[in-house]
Order: sequence, then structure tokens, then C-alpha cells
Amino acid sequence: MSDLIHVFPCQQEGCRGTAIPLAKDGRFYAHPTHGWLFVCIPAHFLIHRCSNCGRDWLTEPNQKLVNDFLEESFQEHASLIRGVVDAARAKAKAEADAKK
Ligand SMILES: [Zn+2]
Repeated sequence: MSDLIHVFPCQQEGCRGTAIPLAKDGRFYAHPTHGWLFVCIPAHFLIHRCSNCGRDWLTEPNQKLVNDFLEESFQEHASLIRGVVDAARAKAKAEADAKK
């Protein structure tokens, strides 16, 4: 928990800003392996953002929180997509059966 409130110097070369925890809506992160899936991270997630260059910095615990959230979102989308595909297949089968 203490990790969420500490600040640290921005790691960007040449930047002298400070990474400060920020809770904010509208931050989209890509899934680590399914890069086509961008998910809006909940506003209450405290993620460090540089006060100078604006870059987000994920500490190790935050990286895990974000990755877990992205994976949950991926699984949710995957099951929605499976549902749509299954429904389309069932409809196609019903139409084919009706023609027999
Ligand atoms: Zn910076």
C-alpha cells in the first residue's frame, strides 16, 4: 500500500519531472498479449504520471493490477465474442435445417 503513495524521479532520459500517483478516468492500456484490445483502466487505479513529460509509470504492483484487469476484460470480451459466434452458427444451422 505504501508503494501507492510514494513519488519518484521520472525515468525518462533528460526529464527532470517527478512521477506522482494519479487517479484519473480515461486512461487506456493495451492488453500485454492481445494488443488490439485497449481497455479503460478504472479511475480509482493510482498510477504514477510524470509532472513534466506526462508519461505514465507502472510500478511492479501496479503493473500486476493493470495486467489482471486487462486479462479480466479480455476474458469478458472473449466470452461475448464466443456468444455472438455461437448464435450466428445456431442461426445458420437452423436456416440450413429449414431448407431440408
Ligand atoms: Zn518525465
